[in-house]
Amino acid sequence: MGITTVGIVGAGTMGNGIAQACAVKGLNVVMVDVSDAAVAKGVNTVSGSLERLLKKEKITAADKDAALARILGSTHYDDLKGAQLVIEAATENHALKVQILQQLDTILAPEVIVATNTSSISITKLAAVTRRADRFIGMHFFNPVPMMALVEIIRGLQTSDATHDAVHAMAIALGKTPITVKNNPGFVVNRILVPMINEAFFVLAEGLATADDIDAGMKLGCNQPIGPLALADMIGLDVCLAVMDVYVAEFADSKYRPCPLLKEMVAAGRLGRKTGQGVYKY
Ligand code: NAD
Repeated sequence: MGITTVGIVGAGTMGNGIAQACAVKGLNVVMVDVSDAAVAKGVNTVSGSLERLLKKEKITAADKDAALARILGSTHYDDLKGAQLVIEAATENHALKVQILQQLDTILAPEVIVATNTSSISITKLAAVTRRADRFIGMHFFNPVPMMALVEIIRGLQTSDATHDAVHAMAIALGKTPITVKNNPGFVVNRILVPMINEAFFVLAEGLATADDIDAGMKLGCNQPIGPLALADMIGLDVCLAVMDVYVAEFADSKYRPCPLLKEMVAAGRLGRKTGQGVYKY
């Protein structure tokens, strides 16, 4: 089954980014959200992003208009009917995702593949609440979607080879580089990244080096574009802590113990850039 129309549930940061990535590659997109305002915001974000690409002469005015014309924004799930692939990119909430996936089961033909962009919820668990567990998969895009090359393709225990292969090919068609991962907390990138950030907090807490020197060390010594502490401030210290807490709960392995300094800073409301202070002041 060729994929010519992609349905997207959620028009927020990730949903509209995925919509843009699909539309510029010639795919038709149906993007649904709960309110006209949310849909309009999503479509306007795509329009603004394409306008910036036009100003940088990365696309032509005709490309921009054609991509926008391929995106249908809607508040009606029924409009997803013509899609061969539906990507769920709604708010990160387990109960909400279960409700959306079960609603999709009542609307979509059995052969339609459903993917979720969840960052933290088990693909195997979500697959189990659907009527299409073998045609369900994780498709974890990175933010900002139009810029970031990676897509983690996460196989639940039930995901079929045919589903994997179709979604893998689809990611390549979008110009992305997919990596295939077995379902596990954090998939690959966050499984490695967040404990590394946590370790940087231990190094800071033990007074082994200043924050600036820790970040300079990892930038210059490992060719990372940004140091782990500055990155924690961008991600949000609360988000980093929540991820470590998930690893503690899921793996029951003390190697994921969150750094007490990280917990202390979250308790103080020093969450990073979004609160004006984290490891650094903004
Ligand atoms: P967001 O808050 O920007 O957007 C979520 C959208 O979902 C909102 O527009 C909301 O109105 C909509 N929504 C809520 N309930 C809905 C429903 N029943 N039907 C349709 N739409 C509904 O969130 P986001 O950052 O785009 O995250 C979306 C998903 O992507 C989450 O699962 C998140 O974990 C994952 N993710 C986020 C990032 C990131 O950096 N932001 C990166 C990778 C994955």
